[in-house]
Order: sequence, then C-alpha cells, then structure tokens
Amino acid sequence: MKQLSVIVPCYNEEENVRDFYDELCKNTDFFRKKQIELEILYVDDGSNDKTAFEVKKLHEEDERVRLISFSRNFGKEAAIYAGLQKCRGDFAVLMDADLQDPPSLLPKMYEYIEQGYDSVATRRVTRKGEPPVRSFFARMFYRLMNKISKTEIVDGARDYRLMTRQVVDAILAMAEYNRFTKGIFGWVGYQTKWLEYENVERRKGETKWSFWKLFLYSIEGIIAFSTVPLTIASVMGVLFCVFAFGMIVVTIVRKLAFGDPTSGWPSLVCIIMLVSGVQLFCLGILGQYLSKTYMEVKRRPIYLVREEIEGKEIEK
Ligand code: UDP
Ligand code: MG
Repeated sequence: MKQLSVIVPCYNEEENVRDFYDELCKNTDFFRKKQIELEILYVDDGSNDKTAFEVKKLHEEDERVRLISFSRNFGKEAAIYAGLQKCRGDFAVLMDADLQDPPSLLPKMYEYIEQGYDSVATRRVTRKGEPPVRSFFARMFYRLMNKISKTEIVDGARDYRLMTRQVVDAILAMAEYNRFTKGIFGWVGYQTKWLEYENVERRKGETKWSFWKLFLYSIEGIIAFSTVPLTIASVMGVLFCVFAFGMIVVTIVRKLAFGDPTSGWPSLVCIIMLVSGVQLFCLGILGQYLSKTYMEVKRRPIYLVREEIEGKEIEK
C-alpha cells in the first residue's frame, strides 16, 4: 500500500473544509484501485473562525483526516512548508481549500507520475473572474520576474502540484525563511509535466489575498530569486558618474573658451534632486536585501504549532 498526502492550507475556510473533503473523496475509489490510501492534511493557518473545529469533526468521521493548527497566521507559504514537513505520503499534493484546484484533475495527474514524471504542476490559462487590474499586474510581474531571474517562474502557475517524495524532500531541504514557493519549485527542477485548465472561481468565502498583500509577496519573490535589482543600482551609479564627468568637462571648456559664467540655479537644484532620488532608491534596494538577510540570519522558526491531530498510520 502506498500513500498520497493531500496538503490543504486553510485560513478562515470553515465553509469550505467539508465541501473540499466531499469533492476530494470522489477520487478515493480511483486511488484504492491503484493501491493508494489518501491522507488529508489540513493546515489551519491561525484561522479565527471554526476551521479547526470543522476539521476535527471530519477527523471523527474519517481517520485519514489530520490537522495541524498554527499558533497564529503565518501565511500560506508557511502552511505549505509545514504540510510538506509533516506529511507521510510517498506522494504529496498541494491544494487550496476553496476548490479552485479541482480535485477531479487528480487521477490524470497521478497517471503522469506513473509514467515517470517527478512532479505534475498545473497552470490556469485564463484569469476569468479576477479583477482586471490584478490580472494586469500579475502578468507584468511574471514578465519582469522571468527577465531578471534565472529560475523559471511560469505565468498562471498554481501551487496545485503533485510530487514524489524525492521532490518533497528537495523542497524541504530549502529551509529558507523567506519562502516563495513558485520560485522554489522552479529552482529544484525535476521532470515536471504541466497541465492546463480554465480558472475556477472560489466556491465560498473571499480571497485572503488583498492587492497590497500580493504586491508585497511579489517583491518578496523578486528579492528571493534575483539579485538583478542590486546590479541595477550599481549600473545606475556608473551611468550617473559618467554623465557628471561629461558635464564637468563641458563646464570647464565653456568657461575657458567663452568665459561663460556658469549659471543656472534651477537646473542645479533639479540635478541634485534627481541624483539624491536615485541614491535613495538604490539604498532602498540594498535595504530590501539587507532586511531579508536579517530575517534569514535570525533563524526564526517558519511556523509554530498550537495543536496537532494525527491521522491513521497505514501499513506500507
Ligand atoms: N491561505 C492560507 N494562509 C493565508 C492566506 C491563504 O493558508 O494567509 C490559504 C487559503 O485558505 C486557501 C489558499 O491559501 O486555501 C489560497 O488562498 P486564496 O483562495 O485566498 O487565494 P487566491 O486563490 O485568491 O489566490
Ligand atoms: Mg483561492
């Protein structure tokens, strides 16, 4: 008997916990035929609604259900990490609780694993039902990211991904504090099969990602997987030096040749403003990297567990 761990990060998803379970269980027969038992690991990311309670109810009915509750909201990345760390399966799949990652795709995904792929990833080809502004910035982000990072980050990629134990262990080996899972998947590599599907809208409740949260997350991604911004800072410094040197030469020559008094306070003020602006910008970039390094050096735990409910161990 083998085991497939389904990892479900949940933050205030009380309405979705059971719906998700019901949808997922439609696949039980398929996996039983393949000699695979499911393990459903809900990671309650510090919800302040009844998410944990709902999971516990499910656990009473079905021992395949497990729960990890965090002491507070640590973010989806931390929840994914915890899930991967605690799961016992020979395979693991990450799924959102809101049914935006259709469980009906699972059999197809598993078939690719059987064919020898190490991981099967999904991407949505449409962004139907999403605010246009958000889609626009998302596209911009992916375009920029792929220009400045060597790690490939696929546009529209979801975290919905089925992987073998080997890939899980590779991801766990990246124990960094600032986690950007999309980049981490790309970084570890392995044979990956991409499946495409049309965007599905969230079943119940509301998205937990505000525009601001997404914006900060995108900065995190850039800082974590690219050092190009630092190079931009240096290049800008060099360009400004060359420009300033040229201006000095022009001024001296003009003075000597034409006795032209160097005039123009307004232009001087503009230049000073511009240059100090650029300096602050570059300092800001440096600061971003420094702050990430600072957090990384502290080696704080990525998450803290408040409560854990074990599921049934299966004989392998
Ligand atoms: N989530 C989480 N912690 C958070 C935010 C979200 O565990 O701080 C979970 C959430 O419960 C859901 C998944 O991550 O299962 C995706 O979140 P959401 O649907 O809000 O994001 P979207 O699909 O809109 O990108
Ligand atoms: Mg969602």
